[in-house]
Amino acid sequence: MTSSLLPTYARADLAFEHGEGVWLTATDGVRYLDFGGGIAVASLGYGHPHLLAALREQGEKLWHTSNLFKIPQAEALAERLAAASFADFVFFTNSGAEALEGAIKTARKYQSACGRPEKFRIVAFKGAFHGRTMATLSAGGNPKYLEGFGPPLEGFDHAEFGDLASVEALIGPQTGAILVEPIQGEAGVRVGAPEFLRGLRALCDRHGLLLVLDEVQTGVGRTGRLFAHEFSGATPDIMAVAKGIGGGFPLGAFLTTREAGKGMVVGSHGTTYGGNPLGTAVGGAVLDVVLAPGFLDHVAKAGARLKQGLLALKDEHPGVVAGVRGEGLMLGVELRPPVGEFVAAARAQKLIVIPAGDNVARILPPLVIDDAEIDEGLRRLSAACAVFDAPALSEAAG
Ligand code: PLP
Repeated sequence: MTSSLLPTYARADLAFEHGEGVWLTATDGVRYLDFGGGIAVASLGYGHPHLLAALREQGEKLWHTSNLFKIPQAEALAERLAAASFADFVFFTNSGAEALEGAIKTARKYQSACGRPEKFRIVAFKGAFHGRTMATLSAGGNPKYLEGFGPPLEGFDHAEFGDLASVEALIGPQTGAILVEPIQGEAGVRVGAPEFLRGLRALCDRHGLLLVLDEVQTGVGRTGRLFAHEFSGATPDIMAVAKGIGGGFPLGAFLTTREAGKGMVVGSHGTTYGGNPLGTAVGGAVLDVVLAPGFLDHVAKAGARLKQGLLALKDEHPGVVAGVRGEGLMLGVELRPPVGEFVAAARAQKLIVIPAGDNVARILPPLVIDDAEIDEGLRRLSAACAVFDAPALSEAAG
């Protein structure tokens, strides 16, 4: 069947029409257990009553007014995000890439507002993923994604993730900021050690740089903390979030301290849709749930149970699972067979997992997952592993 969608994705031949909790129902009525959460987006699963109520209530009142007017829902959400984080100010966007664009602009503008416009360069990291706009592709530096799109945006230097010396070697008179994911998601759930993140903070302080964190995938409860940088105690100056903050509604944001945001004044930045009443009403409802007492503890406990189960899987299927990594409900299974084949084998067990770099399958279930669902997912993963065990077993038998 041909499609009029621009063919930039190799899509699975599978479509869903309904979701409930951590379960998705395909158009043929078959139910799938979703360990992908729409790539870490469906933080509260599908059809969460509190989100639906907020969406319906705001949807019936007013969707959009533009940022030419005050938006009480955005004001309220910004105030709560600031109160729960290091930040003084929040700018809402519609996606992660836009949140990163704003964060990058804010960092550059800060140095310029300080009288150092030459300090526009940013140290970013190999393996990083920050989005698909030209600036965020340039920040990510992945040659595969940049190929054919002309010169990347000037001003990004790429260090080795986890290697402070490689960062320091790149800091020069034009460097103004460091941009990093606390856990590199697309690269294969590569966890930045707390001492690495604290080391980056120290380098920033020593060299007058801003620390910009990309918490698009790690943020808003995914790791069992509201933000992943809390594990390290390394507080950023600017941070981008998206994905889980909208629970499926396209919503992102960048957050900044008053000082780091001081270059961003009337006219410095804008968006038509960003922070509209509908999106920020839904974002507020997500935060109600994520910040409710006990919720983040639940994520941490669920993550620990899942990780333990994955480690058991490694013992059971050493020829398939090479390792397990990650925090909370952002986990990665290092595979021996090609990840694409494993993702397909999991799908045959009616389980969704997400491929990533380093031959890793990402496990990013909705944060509301319960113990029985975790155990069911582990059973399905074990069955997927068995597909790859089989040839070795039959060889041994034969
Ligand atoms: N930053 C990180 C860490 C991401 O994982 C992603 C998306 O996967 C982005 C930025 C880009 O977000 P979006 O696809 O919403 O533009």
